[in-house]
Amino acid sequence: MKKLDVLTVISKLESKYKGLNTALNYSNNFELLVAVILSAQCTDERVNKVTPALFSKYNTAEKMSKITLDELISYIKPCGYYNSKAKHIISASKKIVENFGGEVPSDFDSLLTLDGVGRKTADVMIAVAFLGDAIPVDTHVFRVSNRIGLANAKNVYQTEMQLQKVIDKSKWSDMHHHILWHGRRVCKARKPDCENCDIIEFCKYYKKNKK
Ligand code: SF4
Repeated sequence: MKKLDVLTVISKLESKYKGLNTALNYSNNFELLVAVILSAQCTDERVNKVTPALFSKYNTAEKMSKITLDELISYIKPCGYYNSKAKHIISASKKIVENFGGEVPSDFDSLLTLDGVGRKTADVMIAVAFLGDAIPVDTHVFRVSNRIGLANAKNVYQTEMQLQKVIDKSKWSDMHHHILWHGRRVCKARKPDCENCDIIEFCKYYKKNKK
């Protein structure tokens, strides 16, 4: 994609989705971390249904490190993969208490030491909780970036690396939200709504498949 087109796409998405942030509800960094772990293979809406009851009792790593596996599962079961998610949350909570003084660490490498935290989750924490520069690539960002032509990649890691090259670092975090919301609202997985898409004239997928 030409540099000028990239800039136009970025600017169009920016004006359409400016101000939109994560759809996950949380009130501190630890709650966000738990919500992101729960959101794997699950919708944010479903996560938001289970977390109010959980966070009313367990809203810090210290408190969560003491929950039993069965009790945690009883809260998070609707999110799927509840057994491994519960084990990861308890183990990550214990590590946060033991190694980081009870606070979620703010650097990428430390975040990766926590169970259940992979590259995407660490990037979300940096971009959303700590307002740093990161482009978490989830299923929406992967699909939309590659459809438009901002990336031409086979996997999420390659997509992240390519997006980092074409998007100015100061816009990484915001653009992650904008691309993601475009995927949720317009460029849906099964039925992209191309006729109502603001960036249709730049889209590689549209030119190839629909024109
Ligand atoms: S034109 Fe269609 S495929 Fe391309 S970004 Fe828009 S909705 Fe997605």
